[in-house]
Amino acid sequence: MGRPSAKRYDVVVIGAGIGGLVCSAFLSRKGKKVLLVEQHSQPGGYCTTFKRKGFIFDAAVHHIGGCGRYSIVGRCLKELGLGMEFCRLDPMDSLIFPDFSIDIPAEIEDYIVLLGKRYPSEKEHIERFFKDFVKLYWAIINEASGSPTLNNYKNMTYKEMLDSFFEDEELKSTLAGQWGYLGTPPGEVSSIGMCQMLINYLRDGAYYPRGGTQNFANGLAKNFTESGGETLLSTMAEEILMDGRKVMGVKLEGGGEALADVVVSNVDARQTFSRLVKEEFDHTYSERLRGMKESPSYFLLYLGLDPGIDLKGFRRGFYHGPANQWKYVSAPTKVDSSLAPGGRQILNVVATVEESYEEVGDWKALKDRLTQENINYLDRLIPAPGGLRKHIEVVEAATPRTLERYTLNSRGAAYGWAVTPEQTGSGRLDHCTPLDNLFLAGHWTNPGPGVCAVVSSGWRVANLILNR
Ligand SMILES: Cc1cc2nc3c(=O)[nH]c(=O)nc-3n(C[C@H](O)[C@H](O)[C@H](O)COP(=O)(O)OP(=O)(O)OC[C@H]3O[C@@H](n4cnc5c(N)ncnc54)[C@H](O)[C@@H]3O)c2cc1C
Repeated sequence: MGRPSAKRYDVVVIGAGIGGLVCSAFLSRKGKKVLLVEQHSQPGGYCTTFKRKGFIFDAAVHHIGGCGRYSIVGRCLKELGLGMEFCRLDPMDSLIFPDFSIDIPAEIEDYIVLLGKRYPSEKEHIERFFKDFVKLYWAIINEASGSPTLNNYKNMTYKEMLDSFFEDEELKSTLAGQWGYLGTPPGEVSSIGMCQMLINYLRDGAYYPRGGTQNFANGLAKNFTESGGETLLSTMAEEILMDGRKVMGVKLEGGGEALADVVVSNVDARQTFSRLVKEEFDHTYSERLRGMKESPSYFLLYLGLDPGIDLKGFRRGFYHGPANQWKYVSAPTKVDSSLAPGGRQILNVVATVEESYEEVGDWKALKDRLTQENINYLDRLIPAPGGLRKHIEVVEAATPRTLERYTLNSRGAAYGWAVTPEQTGSGRLDHCTPLDNLFLAGHWTNPGPGVCAVVSSGWRVANLILNR
């Protein structure tokens, strides 16, 4: 637990998730005196790693969109004067369905050609779809509220959008095959949310930070410190101090206080307004929060494997099962061998959990059961001499409860609010709140979830504060 070095700051940022880190780094670079408070012992939120026996495991984030020079993350890093090394993923992903599979190329043009050849009767529709999709992406980025494309799709689910273009069910499954990146199935997920996420990956690339996703967070944290920012790790923010409707600062675990004109919350929005803000405030806003729905959470398996395992034929991507169940399986050591010593390999699984959070009585039993089920699944998927189990050197697992414990996102919500049409765009919480000088950055606010989006959110909030 740390203590602030000063009594007063221009801004206190609660939470060193990527949204909080980016916001802090921009504010500090522009001369603001900023205190960043993080309850975990390392920065990054979901974008962190942990080490076991020489293996470096990514806790949650597997790759980042938009790291090219002209895309959001790339531009952010350039503005901050921050160099980072990334590996571009090619193919971007693979989609494995029970009766067909497809590798998604790294370049969007190659994907359009591939789909046109695979589904010749839909070729023209495919071209029209991607043209509209890119147009929609720009309308979202430019917040062009008068855009006819944006107005046309903003209330549609992604399924409705696909149905308006295509007949072929297999093609629709393919184009929806990455919905797991937003956690909400095609019939419920916002077409705008899917557009932001997919175009970001397909047009601007999917990238892996060399050395592990923690390096991305650490780079931002170092940049912040170098420009004069102060970070308190392992320190819980307990209360946002108020004078009527205006924020006054933050009360910290252990009784310390940091006074500030402005507070940014990069943490779970429910926690912000139910636990951190103790005063009564805008009734309509509280009611709205009560009616909003969180995104789902996952089970995660992390395996460290001996050098005897051969992953040459392994495909990273979504393995779809029945009834909206899927597993995302990846081998980050195939992209960056420095993550494991001596030719060893890592396999990660992210899997949907059928039980709702409230249904689970015994989390340990759930973790043990899902660990065994997922190892059995991998054993069938990956040929290994003597079976996969013989090659395992490290096994770790995480449930929604684990994700909640490390990040304090309610029920381990992977993406803040669920990305439905009602909770996207103006339906998501604004950066400004009913409380004066309290701002929100991160996946509970606009533009939404994913590292690239929260980079944008942190940057936007910094600009809002600087331009006040
Ligand atoms: C399993 C999984 C896989 C994912 N994979 C990807 C992926 O491959 N690519 C991608 O782009 N996105 C991915 N996402 C989504 C992405 O990780 C998130 O949308 C994004 O990282 C959220 O960032 P954030 O800035 O909102 O903060 P968060 O990551 O939610 O961090 C919030 C921080 O606030 C801290 N905090 C909370 N309360 C307090 C308090 N009271 N006091 C002090 N500190 C506090 C927490 O400890 C945490 O560090 C994945 C998510 C999950 C769960």
